[in-house]
Amino acid sequence: MITDLVLTPTVSREAEIKAAFKMISDVTCIRFKKRDTESSYLKFVTGNGCASFVGCQGGAQQLFFSSECTVGNLCHELLHALGLYHEHTREDRDKYVTVNWQNIVAENNFKVNPGNTQNLPYDLTSIMHYGRTNGNPTVLPKQSGVEIGQRKHLSQLDIERLNKLYRCGRALENKYMT
Ligand SMILES: [Zn+2]
Repeated sequence: MITDLVLTPTVSREAEIKAAFKMISDVTCIRFKKRDTESSYLKFVTGNGCASFVGCQGGAQQLFFSSECTVGNLCHELLHALGLYHEHTREDRDKYVTVNWQNIVAENNFKVNPGNTQNLPYDLTSIMHYGRTNGNPTVLPKQSGVEIGQRKHLSQLDIERLNKLYRCGRALENKYMT
């Protein structure tokens, strides 16, 4: 499936952006293309941290990608633009993590979202999960010895979630058959 996420021609840091695209396109049927005349597209903006809207908003949609953002951070923001919320805001999160509200500054980033979980289990290893600290503990897994907040790769469940959301099954089957 081709998405409507496209690049503006003036973008810098193209290698990093392409690496983040590859983290997604290598394991899903989602493809990224440069903007031609499309009216809805992603516009990469530097200088405002790492941030993205969730889902397609229409028009020139800003994705903030400043110098401190890694390729993994950018991949996380792209998944927001593709429609994914933070894993730790799932409705069932209190079974798996403890939120320490007294240490949280940006409360909106920890509010529960009644989003579609695609019938997939809670995933502490998701690239969409926050880490455990902002200096002080913010979100802690109930299961001991688990690392959370990785930004290195899509987890197996991240991959399944995207492939379900974008109905990649048939495309991936074809890929394996050829
Ligand atoms: Zn995020």
